[in-house]
Amino acid sequence: MSGTSPLYEGICKIEIPLIKHCQMLRICLESAFYHNSLRPSFLHSSMFSPRRKIDLRWILPICAFLVSASSIVSAKDWNIITINGREYVTASNVANFYKIERLEKKGQTRTFRHPSLIMEWTIGAQTIYVNRIKFNLSLNIAEYKGQALISTVDLAKLIDPVVRPSFIKKPIDFDTVVIDPGHGGHDTGAKGRQGFEKDYNLDLSLRLKTALEQRGFRTVMTRSTDVFIPLGGRVSMANAQKRAIFISIHHNSTGGRTAAGVETYALAPQGTASTNSPSGSGWTSTLNGNIRDAENIALATAVHAHVIHDLKPTDRGIKRARFNVLRGINKPAILYEGGFLTNPTEAARIHDPAYRQRTADSIANAVVKFKHAVGKR
Ligand SMILES: [Zn+2]
Repeated sequence: MSGTSPLYEGICKIEIPLIKHCQMLRICLESAFYHNSLRPSFLHSSMFSPRRKIDLRWILPICAFLVSASSIVSAKDWNIITINGREYVTASNVANFYKIERLEKKGQTRTFRHPSLIMEWTIGAQTIYVNRIKFNLSLNIAEYKGQALISTVDLAKLIDPVVRPSFIKKPIDFDTVVIDPGHGGHDTGAKGRQGFEKDYNLDLSLRLKTALEQRGFRTVMTRSTDVFIPLGGRVSMANAQKRAIFISIHHNSTGGRTAAGVETYALAPQGTASTNSPSGSGWTSTLNGNIRDAENIALATAVHAHVIHDLKPTDRGIKRARFNVLRGINKPAILYEGGFLTNPTEAARIHDPAYRQRTADSIANAVVKFKHAVGKR
């Protein structure tokens, strides 16, 4: 393998020289999850879930061959630990699989160190850091006999597409970006001291349109003026495009003045609680957007990491939610929240056209990076 394209250059450049026969290995992993445990029905990632039924009678000999032929990881290398009906793997298991040389243990924290990757888990936490970018997990980091555990959902739906985006199965070959400025018309969105969210969303989106076109992409705007478009209309516009990704642009608000920072949302995977309602039970039905779980998190990672790196806002993390606009879209889709209009400092920054221009350029560069990262084989 020639190395993985990073989703965010200068920050994440992991190269995992372990899998030449990646398709074969993926099938082996899938069989591991079938064999070692009662596999939850919601695991649909490119890593673990087959699109079609796999005949284990011929897979197992292939796994055995791969192990003996190249001594890469085998199905046996994933040891599933089930806690309260949820499946987990240990930190050392993950380190071994990705050939991460150092796994340091300090109190409740586990730090993975690779020449181009630093990943930090803390037992009990619902966030992890990958190269200093914050990610919200579907399930908290757990503990078993002193070992830190990550859920197989987060392994499949977050870790793998983020550290190895080029392994995403059949990624979309897109040339179009559907840009969705949130709100509009009578729906003003958040109210800042100097302006409405709907207007900042539209201005940033128009700047993003130009920036993307300069980089060779086609663009489609769900609105180009101050009009109200129902969410269903935005979803239909996105789904009408064949080779497209979708980026919804918003700005945030809250009751207080202190909340600050940028957050980027991808659709919550099936069977998990969303970041917005972590105490709620997992959503068990499949949504249109779930077929894009791996690409959704990869796109969110690229955009979020670029903005955090380029503009240095407070990092509120990459989050999962089932916003209506993300639920129905069958394309890779994210919702970007570019800061709080209720925070005077951030509101002033968002009000500055130069800041919005830098944000647009940063997001456009992230889209280029995403295309290269998932498209490379
Ligand atoms: Zn909004």
